[in-house]
Amino acid sequence: DKLAVATVASHTALQILRGAKRYGFRTIAVAQRNADFYRQFSFIDEVWTADFSNFRHVAEKLVEKNALFIPHGSYVEYVGWRQALEAPVPTLGCRELLRWEADQYKKMELLAAAGIPTPRYYKRAEEAEGPVIVKLFGAKGGRGYFVAKNREELAKRIKAVEGDYIIQEYVFGVPAYYHYFASPVYNRVEIFGMDIRYETNVDGRTFGWVEPTFVVVGNLPLVLRESLLPVVHKYGVDFAKAVREKVSCELAGPYCLESIIRDDMTIVVFEFSGRIVAGTNVYMGVGSPYSVLYFDEPMDMGERIAHEIKEAAARGILEKLFT
Ligand code: ATP
Repeated sequence: DKLAVATVASHTALQILRGAKRYGFRTIAVAQRNADFYRQFSFIDEVWTADFSNFRHVAEKLVEKNALFIPHGSYVEYVGWRQALEAPVPTLGCRELLRWEADQYKKMELLAAAGIPTPRYYKRAEEAEGPVIVKLFGAKGGRGYFVAKNREELAKRIKAVEGDYIIQEYVFGVPAYYHYFASPVYNRVEIFGMDIRYETNVDGRTFGWVEPTFVVVGNLPLVLRESLLPVVHKYGVDFAKAVREKVSCELAGPYCLESIIRDDMTIVVFEFSGRIVAGTNVYMGVGSPYSVLYFDEPMDMGERIAHEIKEAAARGILEKLFT
């Protein structure tokens, strides 16, 4: 059977499957809902509906179809990281990272091991200094986060928090999210693009009347000052190296570092994603501004993934991409 590329119908499925089709793969979207929305697109060969509480079953069916699976944030959210870790279908990238991402402390530990500047954090509210942001483990799109101006405010509010959390220094500056592509085929880390997020209570006209909740509704493209590119690229390379050393696996495909850029132009990274992020959608169909630097043509992330798979298949090194 011809190779197929499959993903869960949400998040970045449209660009992933469109890119795969352009590079000659069969395409499968697995939908929990909104299947009809996805059926309208001719670049999707098959739209399945499935119950995600048993993703193992879906994974087995995908293997029968000779499918390679592209994971994304909504997939991990829908099936849960444990199921995602074990799903018996070839999955792009370093799956073991899911375990690290599920724990805010381990996440920070990995970034620090890469030598990337991160916000200070406190295990106990009594130790906190200055403004902080409190993050719950496994929060979805920033929901359930809150900020506190000082230790007194934090002490009052922390009592109401249930479950695991991390207290982080609140870093002042502008957010910027960097998209990378780790290429086993070309043996390099590429800067793919950047975005910023559009968030209801932060970017909306709330006049300071409501508390920021960081709920994301979309993404906007960002082009960075060129003088910042070398350091952004270095952080991407250093992160891949830390994953190799601490997690014992090789990054392959898209990943992301999420940062605040301070007034003095230093970059503080507060989060990473070991797979494609929705911010890459801003380049769907038009290609990212940096892709033209590596290839002679603009590519979006869906096309970049398909390009890598096609080249890896031709060179007989698909196992370097999929775990
Ligand atoms: P993701 O969806 O990528 O897993 P998330 O949406 O759950 O992450 P974050 O991206 O970690 O949450 O943070 C939400 C918002 O909080 C972001 O807009 C970011 O700008 C802001 N933020 C996070 N950490 C800090 C920090 N240490 N200092 C200042 N702002 C922060």
